[in-house]
Amino acid sequence: VYILGIETSCDDTAAAVVRGDGKILSEVVSSQAEMLTQYGGVFPKIAEEGHAKAIDKVVSEALFQAGIKESGLSAVAVTIGPGLSLCLRVGVRKARSLTKIHRLPWIGVHHMEGHALVARLTDPQLEFPFLVLLVSGGHNLLLLAQKVGDYIQLGTTLDDAIGEAYDKTARELGLDLSKGGGPALERLALEGDDKAFNFSVPMRSVQDCNFSFAGLKTRVKMLISSQDIKPSIVHIDEANAEDRQIRADIAASFQRVAVLHLEDRCDRAIEWAKSMAPIRSLVVSGGVASNKVVRERLRNLAEKHGLRITCPPPRLCTDNGVMIAWTGVEHFKLGRIQPPPPLDEPDDCYLDLRPRWQLGEIYAGGLRTAR
Ligand code: ATP
Ligand code: FE
Repeated sequence: VYILGIETSCDDTAAAVVRGDGKILSEVVSSQAEMLTQYGGVFPKIAEEGHAKAIDKVVSEALFQAGIKESGLSAVAVTIGPGLSLCLRVGVRKARSLTKIHRLPWIGVHHMEGHALVARLTDPQLEFPFLVLLVSGGHNLLLLAQKVGDYIQLGTTLDDAIGEAYDKTARELGLDLSKGGGPALERLALEGDDKAFNFSVPMRSVQDCNFSFAGLKTRVKMLISSQDIKPSIVHIDEANAEDRQIRADIAASFQRVAVLHLEDRCDRAIEWAKSMAPIRSLVVSGGVASNKVVRERLRNLAEKHGLRITCPPPRLCTDNGVMIAWTGVEHFKLGRIQPPPPLDEPDDCYLDLRPRWQLGEIYAGGLRTAR
């Protein structure tokens, strides 16, 4: 089995070829980090143009590196949601045209299932059922993964995702965003005192597994303006030593509390999950899972509960084509594939994208078992 995976849900254009046994034959990512630096966020129209420019090259490069022709593929897997519909369209259009011309089956993949299942590629000993914490730019999810395609959602974010809070805070602090706000903030936090500022941990009195990062984000923002730092004007490199130290302290304090919130919610989710299924592992994935503090603290938490922990390597935590190709492999093996598009399908007519798409059923027993 050879599956090509295509990912264009946000700002990265990515493709990869993965073999049925999990061997990664190629991986190509073209990112638009300069957009974040220039505009401070992802603008759908601009991202769409970036994808449109990159997609053909990224896909042919992935096939070339893998040494495989389109006709040698078993199927094409592509992210159909959730994400920006303008962006999703570019990848889906490419997948439809490839599968139409070469008469290949195709597989529509849930982006967050990709983030979760890639852990089964990097850790072959990972067995269902397991608990997954997904922390990324757009999501915070706690899922009990029972089988491929069978998830129970224990918690989600009520407002912002943690990655977004990292990115916004990094921007407020005047950090260089060209390699992502999260990694820049993580680096600066190493120079700071994480107890310098005392932000309260979100939702301590709410006994469920949901997340909230908007309040923390706002408190940090208010603190920054009260310190009279004007990071959107002053880049960190222009800050004097004292100013830099304050920013590092804010970064470290923000990170401490953000990760404490993850620990709190995970701690409860582990107990919920254990009451439902014999879980043995905690998977932590999504872009923010490349953060060392996040990995370290959740490792301790998992150990405390007698669980193994699996975090994919950082390049497979952030958006990539491998996770989509691998999720395609998992679905392919179960026969969950779509037939090739009709030969007369116009290239731009496929509309079944899922920009908003919930993964799994929401757990209804939360309140009953709340501590
Ligand atoms: P989603 O998967 O929810 O659709 P996305 O695909 O945009 O969102 P990912 O690529 O999975 O998100 O992750 C990107 C996010 O991860 C960004 O918000 C980025 O700042 C954050 N991130 C990446 N590395 C780190 C790090 N070392 N520390 C903290 N955050 C990080
Ligand atoms: Fe993602």
